[in-house]
Amino acid sequence: MYSLVPIEKLKYEEKFELKEILETISEILRRDSIEEAIPTRGEAVVGSYKTFQALKTIGVKYVPVTSSEDSIKLREPISLEALGFYDECVGDRVRVYRDTLELLYKNWPTPIVGLKSLSKGEVRVWAKLEGYNPYSNSIKDRIGWSMVREALEKNRLKEVVYEATSTNTGIALASISNILNFKTRLYVPESIQKVTDVYLKVLGAEVVRAPVSLTVEVIGEVDETAKREGATHLNQFENDANFKVHLRYTAKELDFQLRSSNINPKAIIGGVGTSGHMSAISLYFKSRYGERVRIVGVQPAPEEVIPGIRRVETGMKWIHWVKFDEIVDVEREEAIEEALNIARKEGILIGLSSGAVVKAFKEVVEGEGDYILIFPDTGYKYAEQYQEFLATHD
Ligand code: PLP
Repeated sequence: MYSLVPIEKLKYEEKFELKEILETISEILRRDSIEEAIPTRGEAVVGSYKTFQALKTIGVKYVPVTSSEDSIKLREPISLEALGFYDECVGDRVRVYRDTLELLYKNWPTPIVGLKSLSKGEVRVWAKLEGYNPYSNSIKDRIGWSMVREALEKNRLKEVVYEATSTNTGIALASISNILNFKTRLYVPESIQKVTDVYLKVLGAEVVRAPVSLTVEVIGEVDETAKREGATHLNQFENDANFKVHLRYTAKELDFQLRSSNINPKAIIGGVGTSGHMSAISLYFKSRYGERVRIVGVQPAPEEVIPGIRRVETGMKWIHWVKFDEIVDVEREEAIEEALNIARKEGILIGLSSGAVVKAFKEVVEGEGDYILIFPDTGYKYAEQYQEFLATHD
């Protein structure tokens, strides 16, 4: 005997670190179903903790529960779809939102668009446009929201948030801080375009320029200062809320969009900065579709600077938990050239890291199929880089 109850009604204290439940998550995604009912007493979960935490992490609306002491095996597995797994992927058709936070998470999925200029014959190329997020016009809105939400839930959000950022996470956090009434101090490497300061200051953030080239190089200092001064350091590089939001939303909605359109991805290609979004996409798609989907990461070539992405050897967390089939090096100039090509052939202005993803696609394309490119943001923040490029090339 079991009943289906809304997952939000059940009381459960997290018992495991994310890494400890990855296998359970992977197994549930692979089976695409649940085969046991979770033991509960009243509203409290009293067993099958790993399965329950995994279900909470991937986001289902309902769970099968039993009032017996141990979990029971269901006679028929229940599909994830029947548990409301995809419910969060269906955006609001009327598109009227109570506030800008709702505009963020109820406006997902971000669009996927066919790129005619790269598609030839049986090679079809699609881009997921993360620039359609409202605050930073980038994929980083998702982690800003998720890290803040989790800190709030765990009562860890202090009055001020300190964070190291190459722009996008900073804008997302500054924006969200204005809705939820906290302050932000953002550490930005010297190497980042100047206009970032303007955007962050317009949003009311305090900006500290750090004498480093990579954002990750200032983490230690931010962490110490935050501890000393009683601020919260969310730390996008280590905070599992980063990976989790991409698993539950970015990867799942991509899957939902592709399934709904009968597109079988041959490869998914995206840049790595914290490695959050591509690692989550890898775990999700490799669990569900195995080796049928190639996962390709994109990093700057040695000594090259491409805002938002960096080399794997500079230290990343989640990329080492999952499988990447290939990591492609791209030079800054190649990234800019491809961004210009997309602007001139498709009419959309994309950022440098998106240009790098296009270049990587051209390197790895091999035979027919559907190729999915993740474009993390738009080109508007990179006027300085484009201006310099145009001044030296005709
Ligand atoms: N592209 C841009 C423009 C970014 O800002 C970032 C992250 O900083 C990335 C790519 C990489 O994303 P992730 O941190 O999920 O690896």
